[in-house]
Amino acid sequence: MSIQSDFKVYVVGHEWALDLLNRQQAAGRVPQALLLTGPPNVGKSTVARFWAQQLNCQQTPAPCGQCPSCRKIISGNHPDVRIFDSDDQALKIDDIRNLQRELSLSPNEGRYRVVVLANFERATLSAANALLKTLEEPASQAILVLTATDPGALLPTIVSRCQMLALRLLPHGLVVEALREHWRAEPEQAELLAQLAAGRLGWTVKALHDTELLSRREQHLQELISLLQAGRAERLAYAHQLSRDGAMLREVLTLWLTIWRDLLLLQSGAAQTKIMNLNWQERLQQLAGHSSLAEASQMVARLRTALINLERNVNPRLSLEVLLLKLPKLREV
Ligand SMILES: [Zn+2]
Repeated sequence: MSIQSDFKVYVVGHEWALDLLNRQQAAGRVPQALLLTGPPNVGKSTVARFWAQQLNCQQTPAPCGQCPSCRKIISGNHPDVRIFDSDDQALKIDDIRNLQRELSLSPNEGRYRVVVLANFERATLSAANALLKTLEEPASQAILVLTATDPGALLPTIVSRCQMLALRLLPHGLVVEALREHWRAEPEQAELLAQLAAGRLGWTVKALHDTELLSRREQHLQELISLLQAGRAERLAYAHQLSRDGAMLREVLTLWLTIWRDLLLLQSGAAQTKIMNLNWQERLQQLAGHSSLAEASQMVARLRTALINLERNVNPRLSLEVLLLKLPKLREV
């Protein structure tokens, strides 16, 4: 697996958003606050990086992905561009205050100072309130880009001050094509990953780089099956352990949601080929035989709620405990 260039950012499927930004830039109306929304791993941070490169690229057509500015942005060394997209750490008020100070200064070497705050719904309330001040009095060459899964989880006063672009899931064929063309994936690998990703190209790229990701999926399926047969104490112990790792918790719940959606499909009599986890057809068919349509439907709703709660900083352990105690109890699987 090789990447053509480490500094080139490939935006796939969201060209309409870049077209709009290009037109605004050409008209001299670069939005000072941008909010990119959409499902996890759909490409929000990628669009943000591309835009940061474009704003400061030293060549045409921008972004070239080659010039010192483009390189520094991707390697995290550009003095005017700050990208916060840690999976696990919530932005704190001190982080925002430091950024405000930086944003109030003229750029060092670029045309704009750009700050990208990914997953802003995870920021603390005091941090979000502090950010409002920056949005109310933006410095002329300061550009702020926020990303969020759900704009409803942000302060309405923040949303109303941003230009919002809602990114959507990509069609299956486009994901396969991108994996083959830009990431040199083998045809079978591209098909399987695109199927599992359900429109989230970022997930497939992670899976290509993280060889453990597919084996972790297998492990998380096994854990779910064991939990379905486990008692209260075991379920609570699992909740306690998993809630310590926010990124892993999100990964597990997202996967479980796809599993229960598949079970729901199977129980409603849909063809086996319609399910997302195609490589688990047999096991899911078996699980579907041991649970009911109502149970699957409830679990889909509960997992959705748990994932939303996670984004909104609701106590993850408590949220997971509630979820696990409500898992159906199966005698045998
Ligand atoms: Zn460049």
